[in-house]
Order: sequence, then C-alpha cells, then structure tokens
Amino acid sequence: MKPYKDKEPLVIENHIIGGIPFMPSPNSDWRPEGTSPDLIVVHGISLPPGVLGGEEIIDLFMNRLDWDAHTYFQTIKGLRVSAHVLIRRDGTVMQFVPFDQRAWHAGESSWNGREDCNDFAIGIELEGADDILYRDEQYESLVGVCRALREAYGIQDIARHSDIAPGRKTDPGDAFDWYRLKKMLA
Ligand SMILES: [Zn+2]
Repeated sequence: MKPYKDKEPLVIENHIIGGIPFMPSPNSDWRPEGTSPDLIVVHGISLPPGVLGGEEIIDLFMNRLDWDAHTYFQTIKGLRVSAHVLIRRDGTVMQFVPFDQRAWHAGESSWNGREDCNDFAIGIELEGADDILYRDEQYESLVGVCRALREAYGIQDIARHSDIAPGRKTDPGDAFDWYRLKKMLA
C-alpha cells in the first residue's frame, strides 16, 4: 500500500480504482434502478475520535470492530457503515465499495432537494478529525480520486457531510480547507 502522490492519474475500471487496495465491505447495496452517482461527499473519520493511524476505521467498515476494545466503540455498537473510499493520513487510498453500488456513509441527508444522498453519492472518508489539520498528501489523493470520478462518471458536484446533514454532522470540520480543495480542482 503506497501513498498516492498525484504523479499518475488514478483510473477507474468496472467501478473500482486500479492499483490500490480494494476490500469489499458488506455494508453496501444497490443504487435505485437507473441512478448513477453525481455527487461526491467528503467526510472525516477517526476511531476513537481524534486517534489516528490504527486499523479501526477499516475494521468498522468490514464489520469486525471489537466493540469492547474502547468505551467509545460501545456508543456505536452494531453500527453498519462504509464509504467508497478511505484516504489515510499518508495519502494512501483504499476502496471498500464499487462506485456503482451504495455505500452507507451519508445517513439522513439531503442535497439540492433530493433526500437520502447515499442513493446518488460517492462517499470519501479522510482519516482525521474536525480539529486536526488534514495533510497535504490527503488533499493530493482526494483531488486524484475526484479527477478519476469526473473522468469516469462526469461528476462535478461535491459537498461536505456537514453540507448534506447540517445540524447533525460536522465532518470534515473546520480543519478541512474547503477552498483549497475547490482551487485544486478548478
Ligand atoms: Zn461523515
């Protein structure tokens, strides 16, 4: 697993990014018939919150997190979630759900008057927290993934989890430089 350094474009084939680890999460299902993804949702996650570098995010997405390992995990016991893509602190990109399927990342949400964003969104989790600055390598990888998604699906629309679930979700938080991303994608 080597970090993505934005030297070579990422290529999506059969709804999976080539050359990166793919671990199929059971927390996925089909999009409504005829729906193709047209929104990218950026998230931030760490488990327990604020603790970086472990395998717990992956374990959560794969339904193998040990709920007894930490008091915080007790508060989310039984939670079944996933994202299409996780970008770790060093910029490593991992995929868990093919893009033509629904990952379970948005929860109760709406965007431009459309409810349940999981139906039409691609969820990208950045390993981090609302108040820990995200790393340059993560921005580079995020831009690389967004470009590949544009190429494959023509997706232009991008939002933060806090934009589609205001009042309920705060991630990726103030630590994420939204304007920097927009500038890099322009
Ligand atoms: Zn989120």
